[in-house]
Amino acid sequence: MQLFIKYIFSLIFLFLFAGQVWAQTDHKQVTAEKGDGIYNLLRKNNLPLHYVDEFIKLNKASLGPSHELIIGKKYFLPVAAGSGATAGNKPVIEENSSKVVPTATYDIFGEAYKKVPLESTVLSGAVYYLVSGHGGPDPGAIARYNGRTLCEDEYAYDITLRLARNLISEGALVYMITRDNNDGIRNGWYLAPDKDEKCYPNLTIPINQNSRLRQRKDVVNRLYKKHKGRYQRLIVIHVDSRSRGEGIDVFFYHDRRSSSGKKTCLNLLETFDVKYNTHQPGRGYHGTVSDRNLYMLKYSWPVATFIELGNINHQRDLKRFIIEDNRQALANWLTEGLMKDFHNNK
Ligand SMILES: [Zn+2]
Repeated sequence: MQLFIKYIFSLIFLFLFAGQVWAQTDHKQVTAEKGDGIYNLLRKNNLPLHYVDEFIKLNKASLGPSHELIIGKKYFLPVAAGSGATAGNKPVIEENSSKVVPTATYDIFGEAYKKVPLESTVLSGAVYYLVSGHGGPDPGAIARYNGRTLCEDEYAYDITLRLARNLISEGALVYMITRDNNDGIRNGWYLAPDKDEKCYPNLTIPINQNSRLRQRKDVVNRLYKKHKGRYQRLIVIHVDSRSRGEGIDVFFYHDRRSSSGKKTCLNLLETFDVKYNTHQPGRGYHGTVSDRNLYMLKYSWPVATFIELGNINHQRDLKRFIIEDNRQALANWLTEGLMKDFHNNK
């Protein structure tokens, strides 16, 4: 009899305990505050930004039409990988057991972002040369918004920085070829223009366009030799559409002779296709891949991709750049496309 009671008690205990385990693995809820976007919320809760899709899945009913958060509403957070909570396996999660990942510090990303979490080694072996268009004495395309002057080079640079940080976080070696020592990743819609961007490692950018492109190309080619034999990609990022009057959507260009360049472009395009269909269904995405006779594509030795992320002078595209979450989303999508390319073509 005593044994039986003991048995019953342990059963009850087991049920209680199991119930508790279940409760503890429920998704944590947070309330959206003014200025919160999905990425912002993930960041604040130490979750990797690629959890955005899961976040949308979890909170579909509580999001606005373009997935904006509604102030005061409660949102479920995805459970961080590495905490052991996978489907069908629900271990006890201790409080504050947020994943501890090693970080590396890069001052170029600015005070708030200089500590980069090293999330994975998926891109280990890959080398990226990131060139944001214009810079130094050349602001690129100029737009007026809300009484301010917006310069293309600042927005291209911010997106490029975010891309660099993502790629490092996934294990890549990244060179920021256009660089600004005092503009880290910036939030907010207005990115104040300046002219102190440098070319890697710390070269003054010449005013003459041909000299400027030659300088970048020479720097990239010198580094290319150093890393010969590795998977290397040059990514050039612009936010003006020089080829079209009606500059909307995202265009990917490669050199005519480069089949690898074309593949990289196609991997990026496919990723953007999927993302637009998930995040803005019905919008209709019309990005393209084509070859183009461009100096950086033609004379740089690494496989090169030239990306026009839209046109800062176009009202519809402007939103893509002045909203910080959109700049982060573009960087994330580029990261995903590049990861796909590395996986397929390394
Ligand atoms: Zn440009």
